[in-house]
Amino acid sequence: MPAISKYTFKWSDIGDISLGRPNLGNTTSVAVYRLMQYTMKSVLNKRFGAEMANEMFNESGRLAGEEFCKNMLDCTQPFHLFIAQLQEQLTALNIGSLRVEKTDLENLNFVFVITEDLDCSGLPITNETVCNYDEGFLAGVLSVYTNKDFDVREIDCWSKGDRVCRFTAKLKE
Ligand SMILES: [Zn+2]
Repeated sequence: MPAISKYTFKWSDIGDISLGRPNLGNTTSVAVYRLMQYTMKSVLNKRFGAEMANEMFNESGRLAGEEFCKNMLDCTQPFHLFIAQLQEQLTALNIGSLRVEKTDLENLNFVFVITEDLDCSGLPITNETVCNYDEGFLAGVLSVYTNKDFDVREIDCWSKGDRVCRFTAKLKE
């Protein structure tokens, strides 16, 4: 059996998609994305329990947010322009429509709303928030931009019966 090598994500692992998929291209379907996400969640849940599985999704989202911020966003912009860039990218990549509902720059306290979220919009109602990955993603983006640790919690979610996902973001205590 070949040895299993240790793996740490690098942005370059996304690869050269135009080279590799000259015909099928850069897009897939939301169903395929969700199939991967929710089968992985199911396996992690079974192996490690729900709490740990959610933590792992949060942590993966955080890593994604950090790398996304470093590779796709200009952190030298003032906050409102930085957020405008983030909004543009999330829309361009069909991840979701982001708006900022509350900005408190003094205390670094924010409320973000995402509509038509890639992870959850249209899911069955289970009365639980499910966007742990998004929580981590937003925390990762904010952490790289501000150089401070953030705690992001989803308080409204399609899966809870809401029509939007709403996230509170504050400095980690
Ligand atoms: Zn959600």
